[in-house]
Amino acid sequence: MMIIMHPGATQEQVDHVIEHIEEQHLSAHTIVGVEQTIIGAVGESHGVPTSIFETLPGVLAVQRISQPYKLASRQFHPENSIFPLDGFTIGSEEIPIIAGPCSVESRSQIIEVAQAVKEAGANALRGGVFKPRTSPYAFQGLGEEGLEYMAEARELTGLPIVVEVMAVSQVPLMVKYVDVLQIGARNMQNFNLLRAIGDTRTPVLLKRGMSAMVEDLLMATEYILAGGNERVMLCERGIRTFETATRNTTDINAIPVLQSLTHLPVVLDPSHSTGHADYVTAVAKAAVAAGADGIIVEVHQDPAHAMSDGRQSLTPESFASMVRKLKAVAEAVDRCLVSRVPSPF
Ligand code: PEP
Ligand code: MN
Repeated sequence: MMIIMHPGATQEQVDHVIEHIEEQHLSAHTIVGVEQTIIGAVGESHGVPTSIFETLPGVLAVQRISQPYKLASRQFHPENSIFPLDGFTIGSEEIPIIAGPCSVESRSQIIEVAQAVKEAGANALRGGVFKPRTSPYAFQGLGEEGLEYMAEARELTGLPIVVEVMAVSQVPLMVKYVDVLQIGARNMQNFNLLRAIGDTRTPVLLKRGMSAMVEDLLMATEYILAGGNERVMLCERGIRTFETATRNTTDINAIPVLQSLTHLPVVLDPSHSTGHADYVTAVAKAAVAAGADGIIVEVHQDPAHAMSDGRQSLTPESFASMVRKLKAVAEAVDRCLVSRVPSPF
């Protein structure tokens, strides 16, 4: 449920409400707005009558949140969540572009591609070091060595780094290196991992599972938010359908649907959602037109020889051309790309 405080409520009154929430074995999540403070009381709240809070000093109203996902819902948090990430924001009118290879393959490869994507207008660098591969015989990633190369690429370019975490045991290592923890489609419902990441304060990019409904994605998000990690961006990366002409089917609908249901930023991945470099730019343009808050895209200097996902990877040149097109689309829908150029650390 959510407890809406009077516009003039004092901090003492807010603290008093929080004490009552905790007495009911619920956890309190406070949103301090310009006008008023809203306190979410989440947990097993079915048996807790709203009257317990209604009569407390400073309380204006108490409402139950109808959706099963509470903290992720727009009902609880009507304004967009906007959070800063190394010099730009996500969730505001500016649209960051996260680009880089599927996998970190070597020091020289990641540094070269990092410089190329920065030059072309990327705002953050992606690169996997623990790879969830369908075959156990396929390249599994460089592990910690890859993280060191990503960190070096960040030092050289100033681009924050986005790296996938696959297991709870990797979380302590990952949070030492990365700016954004990516949770892959295959791990969207790895609830132990979601809880472990909820306990960190590192921003998260949570990808939709390939067979997950929008509501499943929002319930997965709730695990992270319930732990107190509020900086979660959601990522549509295509879902499995009967269509085989593309690797997945991009659910463009998910962008406005998610934006109506949640306050969290929505990012689109045109690489995994199509599986073909030839279709990536068209789908990225559609995503920006539909209101996406960010794009994450795979770029490789030599896609034909990439160790993973070469077929869907753009070259630095085609990426630069895509960025120019996205700029025009963003302007047409009253948004913009991030204008700040990162400086090396
Ligand atoms: C990736 O980003 O390289 C990846 C494995 O993505 P997904 O989890 O969406 O398949
Ligand atoms: Mn990939």
